Amino acid sequence: MGNIFEDTAVAFALKSDTELERAYFLFKMIANEPLVRIGTAVTNFALKVHLPVEGLIRATVFDHFCGGVNEQDCLTVVDTMFTKGVSAVLDFSVEGKEEEKQFEAATQMILKTITFGKEKLAIPFAVFKPTGIGRFILFEKISAGQKLTETELEEWKKVEARFELICKTAFDANVSLLIDAEESWMQKAADDLILDMMRKYNKYKAIIFNTLQMYRWDRLDYLKKIHNIAIQDGFFIGIKLVRGAYLEKENNRAIEFGYPSPICINKEVTDQNYDTAASYLLDNSATLSVFFGTHNEESILIVLDLMKKKGISVSNSKVWFGQLYGMSDHISYNLAAHGYNVAKYLPFGPVKDVMPYLIRRAEENTSVAGQTSRELKLLKTERSRRKA
Ligand SMILES: Cc1cc2nc3c(=O)[nH]c(=O)nc-3n(C[C@H](O)[C@H](O)[C@H](O)COP(=O)(O)OP(=O)(O)OC[C@H]3O[C@@H](n4cnc5c(N)ncnc54)[C@H](O)[C@@H]3O)c2cc1C
Repeated sequence: MGNIFEDTAVAFALKSDTELERAYFLFKMIANEPLVRIGTAVTNFALKVHLPVEGLIRATVFDHFCGGVNEQDCLTVVDTMFTKGVSAVLDFSVEGKEEEKQFEAATQMILKTITFGKEKLAIPFAVFKPTGIGRFILFEKISAGQKLTETELEEWKKVEARFELICKTAFDANVSLLIDAEESWMQKAADDLILDMMRKYNKYKAIIFNTLQMYRWDRLDYLKKIHNIAIQDGFFIGIKLVRGAYLEKENNRAIEFGYPSPICINKEVTDQNYDTAASYLLDNSATLSVFFGTHNEESILIVLDLMKKKGISVSNSKVWFGQLYGMSDHISYNLAAHGYNVAKYLPFGPVKDVMPYLIRRAEENTSVAGQTSRELKLLKTERSRRKA
């Protein structure tokens, strides 16, 4: 199969010449590691002491990687992307909160995004992070099999109630729900809760999707395990398949506490693991639905090839592809142009609160080999094409 991702006219059709230049300038900056490091420190400091830098952040990284400061703000981007067949997943990207009041507010925001999904064809999924609606330490203690104190138990009941409310609302609205995966030492508590939700709300089709990070060597077995449970108990499984975003943190913690790292020994093994899981999911599409969350062209080409061989139509509603807004447009828009189901994560939230997300994107684009140079090469090609 030829590479469908090289058509830059399709990839950047929605970008004006000015936006194209801004993207080029931005990725040029991001490619510079010391600059990202210094820029991050300066920006964090400036925000902390309330220097008026929000305007600058908005005009540069924020508008490139985010849909807006609130959900309403995102609708212009949502509608524009949809003119090219690319859907949106509104991602309330406020992180690191620790108070009940904030968890309640996040829950209300997630419910709102589900309502948006109910009303708009262009928003087929909602998304949330487990630790966005409950304290990390609770997930960690339960995952480690530790006993919670009385107060913690009360708190956990509220977390369970929030999970239930969000999942039930998604079910009632018929909007699929992606639940992000986080650090391995909190994940078991989330996995168990999510499996319960799937048993309850995936009776007719996959509405609730858990995320599997294939840089973990144990996830393929976990997939097979829950698949067997689903077959036995008569429900469907939804999976968002990613490689995993916490590589360094995982390896560092394993070294610090002296346990075997849960991460595959190298990138090649992660890649193989991802592709094997992809094949397993497509082989069992009668009971499994999948959302491929990746910017890896090779993996996606393998998936497209497998779909063809297995006779799965390009627009089959059980197979979706997703990239992050502001990244890999050449993948998203070319896939959509060929009729595949595509949805981009569209982060939103107040500038200050979205900073950790933006910093991760900048660092990821600095450190992930080839990613930034690929973006730059494509932008350059499109520039020349427009000038010719
Ligand atoms: C729509 C979407 C949703 C996402 N949701 C989540 C989520 O819920 N949870 C989450 O953790 N991440 C999530 N991610 C991020 C994802 O896990 C990856 O970090 C990111 O997409 C880069 O991986 P890739 O497959 O796109 O590309 P690649 O560039 O092919 O892969 C890079 C990834 O390979 C792995 N890797 C790199 N070096 C090594 C090594 N030495 N040994 C082992 N593995 C290695 C790491 O996972 C690294 O991130 C999401 C990404 C997208 C696009």
